[in-house]
Amino acid sequence: MASIPLYKTQELKIYNSITGQKETFTPLTEGNVGMYVCGPTVYSNVHLGNCRTFISFDLVFRYLKHLGYKVRYVRNITDAGHLESDADEGEDKVSKKARIEQLEPMEIVQRYTLDFHNILAKFNNIPPSIEPTATGHIVEQIEIIKTILDKGFAYEANGSVYFDVKKFNETNHYGKLSGRNIEELIANTRELTAQSDKKNPQDFALWKKAEPQHIMRWPSPWSDGFPGWHLECTVMSTKYLGEQFDIHGGGMDLKFPHHECEIAQGEAATGQSPVNYWMHANMLTLNGKKMSKSTGNIISPAEIFSGDNSILSKAFAPTVARFFMLQAHYRSVLDFSSDALEASEKGFIRLMEALETLKSIKASEVTNGFDITKWVDNCYDAMNDDFNSPILIANLFEAVKFINTLKEEKASISKEDLTTLTEHLNTFVFDVLGLVNLNEASSDTSDKLSGTVELLIKLRAEARANKDFATGDKIRDELLALGIQLKDGREGTTFTVN
Ligand SMILES: [Zn+2]
Repeated sequence: MASIPLYKTQELKIYNSITGQKETFTPLTEGNVGMYVCGPTVYSNVHLGNCRTFISFDLVFRYLKHLGYKVRYVRNITDAGHLESDADEGEDKVSKKARIEQLEPMEIVQRYTLDFHNILAKFNNIPPSIEPTATGHIVEQIEIIKTILDKGFAYEANGSVYFDVKKFNETNHYGKLSGRNIEELIANTRELTAQSDKKNPQDFALWKKAEPQHIMRWPSPWSDGFPGWHLECTVMSTKYLGEQFDIHGGGMDLKFPHHECEIAQGEAATGQSPVNYWMHANMLTLNGKKMSKSTGNIISPAEIFSGDNSILSKAFAPTVARFFMLQAHYRSVLDFSSDALEASEKGFIRLMEALETLKSIKASEVTNGFDITKWVDNCYDAMNDDFNSPILIANLFEAVKFINTLKEEKASISKEDLTTLTEHLNTFVFDVLGLVNLNEASSDTSDKLSGTVELLIKLRAEARANKDFATGDKIRDELLALGIQLKDGREGTTFTVN
């Protein structure tokens, strides 16, 4: 008999950035969730702030899956079209790096895509279901530009195509996500430069004609050029999730103009708003200040893992850094510091020790000193309240306290409750929060080492039984050279590792 999926009994609320309210989550298709998250522009090593965004959405992905939803998670790789300035000016970020390093743009893309995957794997993020690239969807981007032109929401000028924000705003609402109104936008945008082909400064590029020195270019009905940055997300989200889908996420800094433009493009092309729930993850500061390359107030994920940055007192395991980030709600600003990481590490160790202690706790007749059912409810309530991981973690520490009183035999637990506690604690810690037990990771390695040495001991015994003493001695001596000493005794051969 199939069990009832959790999502039928748990009411999940998500803070929707477009309404500014927590709303009950109801997917378009029961049991299925389509989620799109804006991925990185792969022209440099992944920024720690971006890691926080992707860890936040990994938590969302994990929890939705835990609730029993079938989730299609799409996260793109921006490998073309992202210019240095939001005003559609400057060089393409990938091309610029390629020019400076004298590499093919695709070498830049490959290098930093690998770095991105490698770092996120260290943080134990689950890869998305689909990871499409902008350059892999040029044809679809050209098609949607044609549609937007046909519907009258864009215009061509000197081989480039621009979205007509003023025209769009006559029938739709431009600014509804970021809360800006068009008058304010007009007042705040700087004057158009003389060479600009835009009708109005708030218009944005759907297609840009490539300057002669621009390397990344594709043919189109308007010119040899490249798509505007906002377009790829509209195309890739709707291609894989449908014209309307459930969740769109990204960093807070993408709300405007990027996500506002995505809404405009989607509505212009299809007549309907593409996204039901907009989610935005807040930023990470460092020692109370905005991270910035130019002021040197910056730290990379690799430096956290190696401890190789003067900001840090020591190295920290990726899972400790992940735990630290999940101790704040994804919509709050989080300040990173060495002290804060050390405090998280202490908490993390206490949590892992309690999990270890729990394994040796013996059940009694009754539970005394803790309401397990209530505790499970509290954990779900925290996660159902817009993925409130800090409250979930606070609840996990309530269980840690109880486990420690069990250890001191100052409380008792029934067999049934012990099973419930163990199962839920493990589920929340490892499946939902995605933490990794460092001791288990290393004890796994030592299990493998023991197995390997045991195998060699057996082969040595077989060789000696066959009077092949040369092979027997070779195994013993070479193990010794590696620091593993065999000792023959009455009970058989044992070993020690130096
Ligand atoms: Zn995007």
